[in-house]
Amino acid sequence: MAQHFLLSAASRTLSLRAIYKGGEDAAYATFCEMRWPETDGEAICPKCGCCDAYKITTRRKFKCKACSHQFSVTSGTIFASRKMDFVDLLAAICIMVNAAKGVSMVQLSRDLDCQYKTAFVLAHKLREAMAQEVQTGEVLTGHVEIDGAYFGGHIRPENVKADRVDRRLKEHQTGKRRVVIALRERVGRTLPFVAMAEGEGVALANENVCRMATVSADEASHWDALHAGWEVERVNHSELYSDHGKHTNMVESFFSRLRRMVAGQHHHVSPQYLHQYANHAAWLEDNRRFDNGELAHRLVANSMGAPVSRNWKGYWQRAA
Ligand SMILES: [Zn+2]
Repeated sequence: MAQHFLLSAASRTLSLRAIYKGGEDAAYATFCEMRWPETDGEAICPKCGCCDAYKITTRRKFKCKACSHQFSVTSGTIFASRKMDFVDLLAAICIMVNAAKGVSMVQLSRDLDCQYKTAFVLAHKLREAMAQEVQTGEVLTGHVEIDGAYFGGHIRPENVKADRVDRRLKEHQTGKRRVVIALRERVGRTLPFVAMAEGEGVALANENVCRMATVSADEASHWDALHAGWEVERVNHSELYSDHGKHTNMVESFFSRLRRMVAGQHHHVSPQYLHQYANHAAWLEDNRRFDNGELAHRLVANSMGAPVSRNWKGYWQRAA
């Protein structure tokens, strides 16, 4: 029997031991190399593009020789104003990419021995960095599967049967229920969105799927509108899951990962952050065949390419 990729030695190329053995200097060098790959980690001024800078080594900062602008390796990126050591940031990235179904932020705070709030913001910044690779704005091509799955807004039934209400009725719902609509190429990318109703997926397909593509969907009636724009294959899930190659199993597999992430790690997700968990699951899904060293490198590179977060920079200062 063929061995599963994640069980093979080839999938393990990075360890926490290696990160901490390398120490702060090696971790810092990794961030520099990922921020400025074109110069092998030599600083480039973010203001004027000059490649010549004085090194202020004691503070790990640079001063541009041309315009005197002072900057650091994380200036203008998602890790701007970081307080955590580079070695801990790298360890956090390693922990995040090793967790195939995500990791709870309490667990991350225990592993890194930092406050829960720090872990919460750090994990969300990393999800924002992953989203750079997921939400590229490029249209999907080839064979694209579309489906939706509902998350959140669970209503606990009352203890006594006589007190229980019909949880399907709108007046008994919390208003926190959302649907994740995912478009997934059979070979390629996964593109998730958050909406109020699954039917909104047709408009999302209009914006994000190439007209030459073939689309697969299940029997739900709102997908009938897809036939106007594409060649569509349908499969009736009440009868079978795969009808001679007509199926939506790839997109279901994405939902399976997201469901396990929400049920097993986060337990509760608020509608305002659901899209980031969906992006996280999509990133893991699309990169599932890479070893963990490659995943960590990608995530560092994504972080160095991601702009300062409008949502997460100074989050707790604002919340206080
Ligand atoms: Zn400059």
